[in-house]
Amino acid sequence: NMDFASRVQRVEPSATLAISNLAAELEADGVDVVDLSVGEPDFDTPQNVKDAAEDALEAGETGYTPSNGIPELKEAIAAKLADDGLDHDTDEIIVTPGGKQALFEIFMSLIDDGDEVCLLDPAWVSYEAMVKMAGGSLARVDLSPHDFQLEPALDALGEAVSDDTEILVVNSPSNPTGAVYSDAALEGVRDLAVEHDITVISDEIYKEITYGVDQTSLGAIDGMADRTVTLNGFSKAYAMTGWRLGYFAGPEELIDQAGKLHSHSVSCAVNFVQHAGVEALENTDEAVVEMRDAFEERRDMLADLFADHGVDVPVGDGAFYMMLPVDDDDQAWCEGAIEDAHVATVPGSAFGTPGYARLSYAASKERLQEGVERLAEHGYL
Ligand code: PLP
Repeated sequence: NMDFASRVQRVEPSATLAISNLAAELEADGVDVVDLSVGEPDFDTPQNVKDAAEDALEAGETGYTPSNGIPELKEAIAAKLADDGLDHDTDEIIVTPGGKQALFEIFMSLIDDGDEVCLLDPAWVSYEAMVKMAGGSLARVDLSPHDFQLEPALDALGEAVSDDTEILVVNSPSNPTGAVYSDAALEGVRDLAVEHDITVISDEIYKEITYGVDQTSLGAIDGMADRTVTLNGFSKAYAMTGWRLGYFAGPEELIDQAGKLHSHSVSCAVNFVQHAGVEALENTDEAVVEMRDAFEERRDMLADLFADHGVDVPVGDGAFYMMLPVDDDDQAWCEGAIEDAHVATVPGSAFGTPGYARLSYAASKERLQEGVERLAEHGYL
């Protein structure tokens, strides 16, 4: 009889589990499931990145590295951040096994029991879980009445935050909506952050995946450099989900504190994977553009297919997700869609916004077409 800690008991198992369990059961029975539920590129990692990892392995890069990352990678990251208008020395960066670990270290370093964290809904599922594990409380702003844009929701954000708010999380381009927030929206965030002395976490993991627009880094907005923590990772832009590589950058005091958590838990990110990360940052622009172009074509095709069925989907300019408006009981809709039409999606309620299903268009055009046809055939559109 183990006595479990409240920090894990506060957290619910992921609402996406029900769907992936159903999908796995169906697939085990030989059913062909169109899986639009996964948040990862359907591309393989670019060859030059794989080669760099192999070379590093061959060269014996298999031991521990400095806890916060190898100097070459931290320098490449600092150069990338400088391109984005962010000025960080290498001692203001921690390299982590994935962006998720970066977020975990940031939250655990900044949140005390009862500290208020503000999320923009719909928000990626793990923010809420991590905040709760860290002991924080949540304030939430619903962007769904505003087509998932932040600029028209700034008044609502202004009402949600106060001097009690410690942290605001901004994720643009957004998972699950694909929305890219305008510079005016980011300036609105700045005004509120300064007014209420809020630290802003900028999750830029989809920054490299935008269509016809550029995403400004929040920390590059005038007045935000000292109050922004920027995180990014290699999973999405470079199709490296299974490599587990990410990083965050922020004020040196934060890096000192978070570095304790980092060194006493993960020690360091995988050695040869960090070397592959240097190659990804320095020599992989072409592959990134190719994948981005493919995602853009699929986004347009998918939106057109839904429009053909009379469904108007708010289409974002980044990431590879769409929120399809469905019944109020989105959980039942998603379970039905997978059981009847064999199409897997994620209920919007998992992201704090019922009434929608999140679709990932990181799938081939054929599979996307098949998915829409099946949904229509079974009366889900
Ligand atoms: N942030 C967002 C918004 C994400 O969607 C994800 C992955 O799904 C992550 C962070 C973390 O990704 P990773 O841990 O693979 O770097």
